[in-house]
Amino acid sequence: MIIINNARIFDGEKELEENSIIIDNNIIKEVGCNLKSSNSINIINAKGNFLMPGLIDAHFHANTPSYDFYTSDRMPPSLIAAHAAQILTGVLKRGYTTIRDAGGGDIGLKLALDAKLIEGPRFSNRWTWRYEKKRFF
Ligand SMILES: [Zn+2]
Repeated sequence: MIIINNARIFDGEKELEENSIIIDNNIIKEVGCNLKSSNSINIINAKGNFLMPGLIDAHFHANTPSYDFYTSDRMPPSLIAAHAAQILTGVLKRGYTTIRDAGGGDIGLKLALDAKLIEGPRFSNRWTWRYEKKRFF
């Protein structure tokens, strides 16, 4: 369990100042003033920092390191994968916790993210639903 105290929180509609959030198993359980829990493992003082829900980018291209498509199209797959890893890590650090790759990023990126070989957001594209379907149905 994690408690984040003293944060400026954007709840999707308005800003709440000097508030706390209790997170349990990656799920926000409570938001309010001066929250306390006897089960807290980790207490974070977020004074001066800002919390908000993760952003979703529904049109993303992880495998396009350059808008110069001539250059991108001639890169070896391993170089594109290295760029994609950096691009995915960067988008997560900018607040995007979910992306939908609109073209280029293949199932390997999702597998690498799921295996925590690279850091990045939740990843989906037109192939991942087939992967998930095979896994869960
Ligand atoms: Zn596009």
